[in-house]
Amino acid sequence: MTARWLGDCAATGTITFDVDAESAILAHDLKYADHAMIMSHQAYGPDVGVPRLLDVLDQVGIQATFFMPGWVAKVRPRLASTIVDRGHEVAHHSYSHQSPTDLTDAAQHADFERACEVFASQGVEIFGHRAAMWEATSSTLDLVREFGLSYDSSLMGDDKPYRISADGVRPLAELPVHWSLDDWEQYAFLPSPAVGNVIESPAKVLEMWKLEIDAMLEFGSLFNLTCHPFLSGRPSRAVALRSLIEYGLEQGMRFATCRDVAADVLADSQVREVHQRHLITGTGDYPQTPGR
Ligand SMILES: [Zn+2]
Repeated sequence: MTARWLGDCAATGTITFDVDAESAILAHDLKYADHAMIMSHQAYGPDVGVPRLLDVLDQVGIQATFFMPGWVAKVRPRLASTIVDRGHEVAHHSYSHQSPTDLTDAAQHADFERACEVFASQGVEIFGHRAAMWEATSSTLDLVREFGLSYDSSLMGDDKPYRISADGVRPLAELPVHWSLDDWEQYAFLPSPAVGNVIESPAKVLEMWKLEIDAMLEFGSLFNLTCHPFLSGRPSRAVALRSLIEYGLEQGMRFATCRDVAADVLADSQVREVHQRHLITGTGDYPQTPGR
């Protein structure tokens, strides 16, 4: 029986763009702020990649979700509202792009709140969140609830959406990600910092992701693709992404924003529900000092 979150489709696709720009590198080390080549490599994302990808999305007629650090929205004040005006969703991707696993709870709270303030000041309504580097902690999920968002998209516990429940609070929708559906693993190359060392053929990437669509149609999954405009905004990669979306549409897939999929997931009583304590402390009586 087809689950309700899928509607009448065999699989759903969410095309997402993490608009990290310079923040992904500055979070490594602020010394790169003076490295003009690397900063220009990152600025290509919002300045060239995003406009091109918005045109690609127009060509295929689908809506996408752009996860954006608050700092990126602040230093480019028209970026988020332009994306929304073109019919897409902008979502929370931290303020600084520092990994939650590297921050104290207090620092993570301040960083999360600061991004919310930027988007509010720009009149951009936010519905969901993706952790920087996908490195969410239990506190991250608490913040998603505290700031009134409906979904997270950072975890890997399924290839279908699931709900994350916790005692006495409302459940969140989780739209899971995976390395195999991330353009970073295919295209990220920088000599320094060591964030990636691959420049794959878009033809190979297209073939691999088409295979995933085929299988996800069989299993009723969420094809949640993570792209970065400084990577997938490059010409042959943007064209390959357009071909991929066209292929999915030809197979009968529905493409929607994460916000819309999350709403369907939260309304579907048949969606799998996982308690937050089992996500984070699922080790049971696993010994504190494992014997080796
Ligand atoms: Zn990111």
